[in-house]
Amino acid sequence: MRLEIRQYGDPVLRAKGKPVGEVSERIRTLAEDMIETMHAANGVGLAAQQVGQAILLTVIDVRQAEDRPSTLKINGRAMDLEAAMPMILLNPEATPGGEIVSGTEGCLSFPEISAEIDRSESVRVRARSLEGETLDIEATGLLARALLHEIDHLNGILFIDRMNSSVKASLAGRLKRLQKETEAHHYNTRRAPADQRAL
Ligand code: ZN
Repeated sequence: MRLEIRQYGDPVLRAKGKPVGEVSERIRTLAEDMIETMHAANGVGLAAQQVGQAILLTVIDVRQAEDRPSTLKINGRAMDLEAAMPMILLNPEATPGGEIVSGTEGCLSFPEISAEIDRSESVRVRARSLEGETLDIEATGLLARALLHEIDHLNGILFIDRMNSSVKASLAGRLKRLQKETEAHHYNTRRAPADQRAL
């Protein structure tokens, strides 16, 4: 099932995720729905906050971006990206490494906005799989960037927080508009049922 993607201005995007304990049927279904939602929106990653859940769960799939290569090792073994994607990660913790590199990023919660963001070129991530295995992930390229972007989301951090101040200033008008639209959308969709009941 496709889920509604929450946009900038929705307070859940600023919520820190709670760790996932036992993997329930609800978590499995949520992960599947998040993959479907990410693919439908042509995204390379989606964090639980972006579908309204403040928990440490993210999904990633960088296969589409063939022009922006990635490498991946899991538990020390080089992995074929085709076989490893989509990834579902629970409770991921990132240790960034290597040089700081600039790269273009967008975000499904910020439609039509993209910017150059500085991030580490590689990352090591410890996470749990849906099956309960511990994963030691080493990634470079777009996958490293996607992991860092999504793990930021899980901690309530957005890519605008990492934009340099002149870029952020140039986007200020659009960000304010988006925030207002989101607030209006909330007012309409979340207040309407109560108003109807009042009738
Ligand atoms: Zn994002």
